[in-house]
This record gives sequence, C-alpha cells and structure tokens, in this order.
Amino acid sequence: MTKRNLKSCSLSGLTDIVQELGLEQYRAAQLFQWLWQKNAREFSQMTNLSKGTRDLLDEKFYIACIGTVEQQRANDNTRKFVLELADSNAVEAVFIPEGRRRTLCISTQVGCALGCKFCATGLLGLKRNMEAWEIASEVQLLLTAGGERITNIVCMGMGEPFLNTEQVFAAIEIISSPTGLAVSQRHTTISTAGVIDGMRQLIASTLKVKLAVSLNFADEALRREMMPVSRKNPLKEVLKLAREYSEKKHMVTFEYVMIGGVNDSLKDASRLLELLRNIPSKINLIPYNEHPGLSFEKPDPKKFTAFHEELLRSRHTVTVRKSKGQDILAGCGQLAGSGSTTKKDT
Ligand code: SAH
Ligand code: SF4
Repeated sequence: MTKRNLKSCSLSGLTDIVQELGLEQYRAAQLFQWLWQKNAREFSQMTNLSKGTRDLLDEKFYIACIGTVEQQRANDNTRKFVLELADSNAVEAVFIPEGRRRTLCISTQVGCALGCKFCATGLLGLKRNMEAWEIASEVQLLLTAGGERITNIVCMGMGEPFLNTEQVFAAIEIISSPTGLAVSQRHTTISTAGVIDGMRQLIASTLKVKLAVSLNFADEALRREMMPVSRKNPLKEVLKLAREYSEKKHMVTFEYVMIGGVNDSLKDASRLLELLRNIPSKINLIPYNEHPGLSFEKPDPKKFTAFHEELLRSRHTVTVRKSKGQDILAGCGQLAGSGSTTKKDT
C-alpha cells in the first residue's frame, strides 16, 4: 500500500484518520500540532503518542516537506528563496525586513495562468496549483528566516491566489491556527488581479485576512489589454466587490503598479481617483520593477512624484511600496524562477 502524506490532511481530515485507526479524538489535535507547530519530521519525534500508535502511523503515512534549494540576499537585506516541491517544481518566496515588520511574500501557484503583460511570473504560464500543505510549508520553513518570527504574510509571490482559492483558504487555516503556525489572519493579505469568484468567496467566508486588488490601470481598455483576466472579470464588478469587502470586512487596498510611459500621467491619476471615489480604500503605489525578459520600464521619478502628490490630495491613504530586493530579481512581478548572477548566500 502506498503511504499517504499526513501533512496534506486538514485538522478535520486528521480527525477522520484517528477515528479510522481507533484512536482517541484528541489525538487529531496532537498530530496537527506535531506536524505544524512542532515541525516533526518523523513519527518517532511524537513523544506523547505510544510506540504502537507511532508505528501504526508510520505504516500508513509519511511526513512530506519542502526544502530551500537556493537563497539570495539583496543589498537591502531582502532575501529570495527558491523552494523545491516534491515533484521538483520550484516556487519562490521573499523575506522582506522593514523596520519592526518582517514580511514573508509567498507563492500560491507554480507559475500563473493570467499572463499579465508586465509580469515575469505571467511569462511562465501555469505549471500547477500548489496544495494547501505546500503553501503553509513555505511559511513553516521560513517562519524564522530573519532570526525572529515573521510578522506579516502577503500572497503576492507567484500565482493568482483566487485561481487556487480552496487550497489557499485551507493553507490560511493552518497558518493562522494557534496550534499551527500562529500568524494572525489580520496580518495576512491576499492579493488578486481581480478574480470575481474568489473575491465573492472571500467575502462569504469567515476568514479575516486582508484583501489587495491589483488595479494597475484605471483605463478599462488598457487594463483589458495588459491584464487579460479583466476580459472575463469586468472592472465594474471587481470594484463593486472591493467596496463590499471594505464595508463588510477590512478596508481594501488597491495596488497600482506604475509603468513608465504607460499609466503614469496625471490624467491616469485623476481617472484612478474617479474610479475609487466611492470606495473606502487605501492605494499602494508600486514603481514598476524591470525584468530582463520584458520591455517595460520603471517610471520617471518626477512623474512618479507628481502622480503620488495628486493621489495625496484625495481622502485615500496612499502608500508607496519601496522597491525591495531588485538586484536579485525579488521584487513584485520579478519572480520567475530565473537564475541570477548575484551572490549566493550559503
Ligand atoms: N496574482 C496576484 C498576486 C501576485 S502578483 C496579483 O496579481 O495581485 C503581486 C503584485 O505584483 C501585483 O500587484 C502585480 O500587479 C505586481 N507586479 C507584477 N509585475 C510587477 C513588476 N514587474 N513590478 C512591480 N509590480 C509588479
Ligand atoms: Fe499572475 Fe499576478 Fe503576475 Fe498577473 S500580476 S501574471 S495575476 S502573478
């Protein structure tokens, strides 16, 4: 009989398993804690289970893990990790220290199917969805990557979280569980390119995570061209759901990646404000990170400042995402599993 990966079981899955094995129900919670909080790699480590139980588990299950194959450190101490999955696919995660905040940016898919024209991950296409345990394992593996525990998680690495919603939600349950990885949902952000179904599911769910919508283009025709996802997910509906999310849950954040000569004019800024006029929201401005495989350019600093100042005149809270880790291609939209010539950290 082939063994099953115990880590791919949710807490309720573990409850079924202990029942099948004729064990007490509370053993499920113990197993969950061993797997996630205590990071057990072998059943022999599970010292509050009898030898007989451990042997029984060992006969039927194994504990899978993912590993770091490469690690690079940027000049600003941002660190990019290439993580190898069991089938040899690789995803990237980025650790970003900023003051007292230690943010981990995680991937939710291997590649991405949405093919936004400006994004390096989009060039890869979708290889496959990640499973909940793989997504949670990114956090488990890198929980103390910076010495201390990470404080925030953003699903802004490779992939579109809302094209893998079920597994992303299950991963968040593991990540936020006190007997799992104990990173609060309020400190976790899902970023979407505007996938309506997933936005609806998040609003309907009990999850308390934050939502960021990658708006990027206030002109609908340009948005359709640059982000093909918006052909089937019209901007009007995306904005309606973002507003609903702000009213029912937390204030939504709109991300606006500013690309030189493409969406950086003052006219774009007023269009953006017009679109968001009735939506309580924050705006996060992101200067475009250039990538060798793509011909788009970062914005002219003067234009960026003028755009920023225009937004500051509105009632929205406006933040600027500092470009982190660009020298190792660890910035937003630069994750494509590509090799880089910068120094390796061993
Ligand atoms: N698929 C999701 C999450 C991953 S992309 C989404 O699109 O929201 C994370 C963020 O990186 C998005 O806001 C995206 O617009 C932005 N991004 C993509 N390419 C970029 C680039 N080259 N420079 C800066 N930001 C980029
Ligand atoms: Fe996918 Fe997001 Fe990149 Fe678009 S920006 S291709 S949705 S990862």
